[in-house]
Amino acid sequence: QSTTFPNGSKRKTIVILGSGWGSISLLKTLDTSLYNVVVVSPRNYFLFTPLLPSTPMRTIELKSITEPVRAIMRQRKGEVTYYEATANDIDIKNKKLTLQTTCHDDNENMQRELQLDYDYLVVGIGAQSTTFNIPGVYENANFLKEISDSEKIRLKVLKNIETASFLKKDDPERQRLLNFVVVGGGPTGVEFAAELNDYVSQDLKKWLPDISKDIKVTLVEALPNILNMFEKSLIDYTQTFLQKENIDLKLKTMVQSVDENIVTAKMDGKEVEIPYGVLVWATGNAPTQLAKKMMNDLKEEQTSPRGLLINDRLQMLGAEDSVFAIGDCTFHPGLFPTAQVAHQEGGYLAEQFKLLHQLDQCKWEMNTANTDNTKELNKLENKLNEPFKYIHRGTLSYIGAERAIVELTIGDNKFKMHGPFAFWFWKTVYLSMCLSFKNRALVAFDWCKTYFFGRDSSV
Ligand code: FAD
Ligand code: NAD
Repeated sequence: QSTTFPNGSKRKTIVILGSGWGSISLLKTLDTSLYNVVVVSPRNYFLFTPLLPSTPMRTIELKSITEPVRAIMRQRKGEVTYYEATANDIDIKNKKLTLQTTCHDDNENMQRELQLDYDYLVVGIGAQSTTFNIPGVYENANFLKEISDSEKIRLKVLKNIETASFLKKDDPERQRLLNFVVVGGGPTGVEFAAELNDYVSQDLKKWLPDISKDIKVTLVEALPNILNMFEKSLIDYTQTFLQKENIDLKLKTMVQSVDENIVTAKMDGKEVEIPYGVLVWATGNAPTQLAKKMMNDLKEEQTSPRGLLINDRLQMLGAEDSVFAIGDCTFHPGLFPTAQVAHQEGGYLAEQFKLLHQLDQCKWEMNTANTDNTKELNKLENKLNEPFKYIHRGTLSYIGAERAIVELTIGDNKFKMHGPFAFWFWKTVYLSMCLSFKNRALVAFDWCKTYFFGRDSSV
């Protein structure tokens, strides 16, 4: 792609960091013929996270919820470049990025670095799982954020089941191996505990009835309720339902430390020990290394430890003229770390970049052809200054045994539902949200496969 437009003005470069909800939404809606667009992400695919909790036990296959970045790029106009790399330094003053990639040789892994100039930078690097620095969590727990996490959980669950079936029924080690503990009663923890329990009650029960009877799924939450973003009646319904499904719900239980076999928690002021065989940790988000570095570099403006501070136009405080930040890496009152927010922010930025291009062209014409475009310029500037407005459409969560809870927002009205009908609604919404027709077809196929043939129990 030429570096200038036919009228001689310079084509600017936008570098987009990340291939998650925010960055891919931007890439899909940006007019890529107006800029040189470079996407940088260590993950060469988009991951449809809302269905990630369904993957460890293979209700849905991992490949069904990923879409290669290059397949998305191919559908864009102009030329988009992709680097499979991690941005590890940003020189905001000189508008330069340092990228690092690992090259795999037969014998060794070599780190290579690349410097990249940008005119505009979009930071959509997501977040990492938080441990609140609770001792032993990082070393012993499994998180659920990436495909590799899903694989690790699956291996551990299946391995423990096989090892337990090898041990005598009265061996205490057998019960420990079969204690599956999920910490965090947010939607990630609830959806995964529900999927795990479905696997035990719908599939394992047929193959290994003795083992399935002894499996215990425990969900640990520090607050008095799980799923605190939902309306009270839906929370009550879910809590009663999970208990009926034999999930051991431990509320007001704050985990304080973890060792390789035991979770130690404070429950109503008393210390309790919960032995576990598999521990899944889902207590929310923390900033990534790069986000922390940027906060440190811009200490005066970046005063929150929770994420990159942005203004109402998604410009990063301290670098407003050239850096935008979207999604889970940011912190802004009223904007929650959800796919819904990141997706809408990506769409808003695509519109902002179109306006910025039109503004540049307008200024260029005024300077080179001496035309008076003041009216047009003011109109564009007013449009550009319009803030991002998030429209909350609702929240959904799967709660197991073909039940879901749904809270919808339509205008000023709220609608809620729960049970089997809500489950079908949940399925329809997530199918419609899948990124491509291929993903939609694969997810629908996986749901049918699980319904008729059950989940795969082999590694
Ligand atoms: P992400 O989607 O996490 O993407 C971040 C990207 O940045 C990744 O591609 C990563 O590889 C890349 N990256 C990281 N570091 C660097 C770096 N240094 N340089 C370059 N690239 C980098 N939200 C909902 O609204 N509904 C749901 O049902 C829902 N379900 C969820 C289920 C699970 C299990 C999880 C974990 C989250 C769920 N969420 C849901 C939350 C949602 O996934 C996040 O809010 C959303 O992914 C945020 O999008 P993002 O673009 O900010 O980050
Ligand atoms: P979360 O922040 O929503 O919930 C974490 C939970 O862990 C909280 O309820 C918290 O009280 C609890 N907790 C924290 N420390 C604890 C401790 N030491 N012991 C016991 N409990 C502890 O986290 P999440 O579920 O990982 O979700 C992250 C983000 O992704 C949220 O914004 C969420 O809305 C979004 N998400 C949405 C969906 C959905 O809409 N269906 C699904 C998954 C994630």
